[in-house]
Amino acid sequence: RAKEDGRNCVRLHDSRLADQTRERVRIGEELRGATTRGEFELYYQPQVDILTGRIDGLEALVRWNHPVRGLVPPSSFVPIAERTGAIVPLGGWVFGEACRQLRVWKDLGIAPKSLAINVSALQCRQPTFERDIEASLKTWDLTPDGIEIELTETVLMEATQHQRSVVERLRQLGFKIAIDDFGTGYSSLNYLTTYPVDRLKIAQQLVFQVTNDRRHATVVRAAIHLARDLDIEMIAEGVETLAQATFLSNEGCPKAQGYYYSRPVTAQQATDLLRAGRISAAGRRRGNGSLS
Ligand code: C2E
Ligand code: MG
Ligand code: MG
Ligand code: MG
Repeated sequence: RAKEDGRNCVRLHDSRLADQTRERVRIGEELRGATTRGEFELYYQPQVDILTGRIDGLEALVRWNHPVRGLVPPSSFVPIAERTGAIVPLGGWVFGEACRQLRVWKDLGIAPKSLAINVSALQCRQPTFERDIEASLKTWDLTPDGIEIELTETVLMEATQHQRSVVERLRQLGFKIAIDDFGTGYSSLNYLTTYPVDRLKIAQQLVFQVTNDRRHATVVRAAIHLARDLDIEMIAEGVETLAQATFLSNEGCPKAQGYYYSRPVTAQQATDLLRAGRISAAGRRRGNGSLS
């Protein structure tokens, strides 16, 4: 009897795995051509001065407007796109679209100090990567200094010599380089001694628990001090509450990004936030910027 239950259980587990695999394959197929079909859209999340709520940057975050599934979050398709290679055309589109939008904001006189763009490992390994991003800048008459390229620790640690030199050249060209999700990779801090990076983004997974777990608080405090001593800018990701923001600013973290200030919003809503220039205290309490 127990044996039978066990077998059923295995079968159930197998079929669920098979379902998941099929689903991933399907998403992989649907991703092909989604860029040319115009199914992607960029949302933007403000990066603010932790005390005043003044907006000094935005992070571009891709969304997939799927004809049947509706709005699909990146966690459901970016990892698949990374495996199938679809991230390459997608990443190219993201970069170009972010540049186009930045041009709009510059023309309106409300451009943020920096616009952060996520770049995946496979993307920066492409031989045409640098040429492509320089072409986007040229098209929209932009210089690299207002653009921040977000790379994860894993990208930097597994970097080949080629990728390393790409990152170094990007920085020489004037792009800012940020380490995304700092503290969640298989951290070897060694790369901080060799890589010239501009900014650490303290991972949401660490920030999440700063006010209810002493060990998380200790690690985040150490990360803040590390960045400060290395003269690297820092920002905390995933700040959801006033208590977290207060902890972080008391520990000397100057910048924050998270639902407490604003969720990622459409370009139109981001334009309204940029016009206002800051996330008001009331907006912070609502957690949706100064919108509705
Ligand atoms: P990420 O780059 O670390 O982006 C931050 C993620 O945290 C975003 O999720 C954002 O919506 C979410 N977030 C921000 N504040 C909070 C908060 O207070 N609480 C919580 N729980 N979450 C918060 P999103 O937009 O779903 O993106 C997930 C990941 O997908 C990104 O993580 C990034 O790794 C990847 N991604 C997004 N857009 C792109 C892209 O254009 N290219 C590439 N290569 N990857 C992208
Ligand atoms: Mg990011
Ligand atoms: Mg992150
Ligand atoms: Mg990430």
